[in-house]
Amino acid sequence: MSDAGPSADRDIPVLAVRDLVTAFRTPRGEFRAVDGVNLTVARGETVALVGESGSGKSVTSMSIMRLLSAPAARIVSGRILFRGRSGLERDLAQLDARAMRALRGNEIAMIFQEPMTSLNPTGTIGTQIAEALRLHRPITRRAAMAEAVRLLGLVEIADAARRVESYPHQLSGGMRQRVMIAMALACGPSLLLADEPTTALDVTVQAQILRLLRSLQLELGMGVLFITHNMGVVAEIADRVSVMYGGQVIESAPVRALFDAPGHPYTRALMASLPRMDAVPETHRRLPMIRGSVVDPRRPPPGCRFAPRCDMVLPACEAAVPGEWTIGLAHRSRCLRWQELA
Ligand code: ADP
Ligand code: MG
Repeated sequence: MSDAGPSADRDIPVLAVRDLVTAFRTPRGEFRAVDGVNLTVARGETVALVGESGSGKSVTSMSIMRLLSAPAARIVSGRILFRGRSGLERDLAQLDARAMRALRGNEIAMIFQEPMTSLNPTGTIGTQIAEALRLHRPITRRAAMAEAVRLLGLVEIADAARRVESYPHQLSGGMRQRVMIAMALACGPSLLLADEPTTALDVTVQAQILRLLRSLQLELGMGVLFITHNMGVVAEIADRVSVMYGGQVIESAPVRALFDAPGHPYTRALMASLPRMDAVPETHRRLPMIRGSVVDPRRPPPGCRFAPRCDMVLPACEAAVPGEWTIGLAHRSRCLRWQELA
């Protein structure tokens, strides 16, 4: 925790994404998977980025991490302002690969849905956490292993001193996700990007991991961008929410305001399809989805991207992309009819 205190911290953005456009090149031309996204994450804050599959959430986080490979993918325009430990603001969209490597896994960390894709099956979890540390810190192997044990304790893995010797396949899905979190936290990041980290877990383990992330964030004071398609998870974890559809943020609000008074029909529909917190793992369940299919960013409609599926659509919605209205305190919507939703 910094000595500025939590309320002061909240005013300092660790991440400010401004008008981000990310495009993919295909044989049939370029299309925008992210089309003018704005996002802010303050120190010590969890912002949920929520939307159906294909909305552009992962492309947004991969853009922030600069993990999209050229020339197939490129950041067309916009800024990704990051303010880490140095206090200096840097535009990640402009950083060279070397400077980016120095930040990644260090000041900016990421966890994914499937930990096995990031863990090496042939190494013990202790050596992997130690390696993650030694990549960015000048410490001995021995000190790194001791730190690995401490980190496993931090993510509430019992008997950490013995567990460092385990291989990934010897652990349950929930334990592997804890190891991923330990690895992500190894260098004390200012920003953690979590892309559906609990989606593959059953609901009980999911709840445990969400609680763990929440308490670690409070303890460590980092900013978290938490990506999910599940409004139930949003309610559990977020301070603020940005709702994404068709490559655009269509509503953003403090979590209470969003649930009390959603300002966009898409947000309302997402809430209506909120999966029940029962014992069926989410990946094995068919969700009651919003009618119609998710907009194809290769052929976006000329107006509001949600218009073809919207119950409230007017001719004006289909004519031009709606602007953004401030509809409450730190609450913005891109729906023409926001006043009728209130
Ligand atoms: P989400 O994470 O919200 O489910 P994504 O960000 O993965 O969605 O995808 C947004 C859009 O970009 C989708 O239409 C997807 O098909 C497209 N897309 C994602 N990755 C690639 C890629 N590597 N090449 C081409 N298109 C991609
Ligand atoms: Mg995704």
